[in-house]
Amino acid sequence: MAGIYIHIPFCRKACHYCNFHFSTTHSLLAQMIDAIVAEVALQQLYLQEKIDTIYFGGGTPSLCTAEQIERILQAIKVTFSVSDGAEITLESNPDDITAERLIAWQQMGINRLSIGVQSFVEDDLRWMNRAHSATQATDCIQLAQQYGFTNLTIDLIYGTPTLSDEQWQQNVQTAIDLGVTHLSCYALTVEPKTALDKMIQLEKIANVDIEQQAKHFELLMQWLQAAGFEHYEISNFARPDHRSRHNSSYWQGKTYLGLGPSAHSFNGYSRQWNIANNALYMASIAKEVVPFEVEHLTPTQQLNEYIMTSLRTMEGLSLQHVQLRWGNAAHTAILQAAHLYLHDNYMVQSDQYLRLTNAGRLIADGIAADLFQ
Ligand code: SF4
Repeated sequence: MAGIYIHIPFCRKACHYCNFHFSTTHSLLAQMIDAIVAEVALQQLYLQEKIDTIYFGGGTPSLCTAEQIERILQAIKVTFSVSDGAEITLESNPDDITAERLIAWQQMGINRLSIGVQSFVEDDLRWMNRAHSATQATDCIQLAQQYGFTNLTIDLIYGTPTLSDEQWQQNVQTAIDLGVTHLSCYALTVEPKTALDKMIQLEKIANVDIEQQAKHFELLMQWLQAAGFEHYEISNFARPDHRSRHNSSYWQGKTYLGLGPSAHSFNGYSRQWNIANNALYMASIAKEVVPFEVEHLTPTQQLNEYIMTSLRTMEGLSLQHVQLRWGNAAHTAILQAAHLYLHDNYMVQSDQYLRLTNAGRLIADGIAADLFQ
């Protein structure tokens, strides 16, 4: 089984912290849809497996008309073999969600909605330069549920200077009370060249407080675990049977194809990424050439990718899998590197799996780096 990701590179406003590839000028949106539909045919040979997940991300896919989303979806269904129960997710922003759109998305087969809420606190939303209000954040979730989207996930951001511990708790509790079945929660990161980065450098705003972020993350784990959510990946929490199948396939190292500018593809042995420039992408597709760069992963790089992604998941790193695929030496080296973390309760070992504890999740990247070969 494989997945397809479609990158829609347009947004209404530039959020201060964002470094994804997008444009706030929408004059080329229709042309971009034509190009993505054309890329579907050009990429026909990349995937031989059945498609189990399709994910419209970006950018802001909910800026597209229903017809534009459906054109891409139809092109995928005609070109690839899509399984009957495929998970089809659409990322949306609260200010785009209307009853008409929800009906249209359902009718075309979108069965999972991801809403970029980020916060239910007005000051926090203004600080991030989000396009929606706190009221819109709550209303759109209720409207989506009313129109049948029970498989619904929201994004929340913590560790912003405008978010107190009490407000963070309120944000998480609001999501629980609204009956949201999946949450993706991210610490605010200051990416180079973003508006946030510039404002911090000019000392217009305070830098991110790492300790406050760690505290928010610890509290988040406590609250959501107590509320019955599975913490199935560092940043992701789900009610039973509501994990993201698409994102899980990334962490399980399955094959996926990325369509659109800046989209990444992976087949287990190589990674490729389309050019992150709308005009150059469309010009190249017009000549029937997909503009991408490719990196072939060495066996050691493949092992390190496995260490990084598996440790982030609830299932953890399978020592048996490491032994079978990369040999005894890698198996022994990983166990040796893990020894101190096991001793200090940052990790546990059971059934041939290494798993992070809550304390370990706070320093997951550092632990993974220490286990790298
Ligand atoms: S809407 Fe999403 S992709 Fe667009 S600028 Fe904001 S965070 Fe980035």
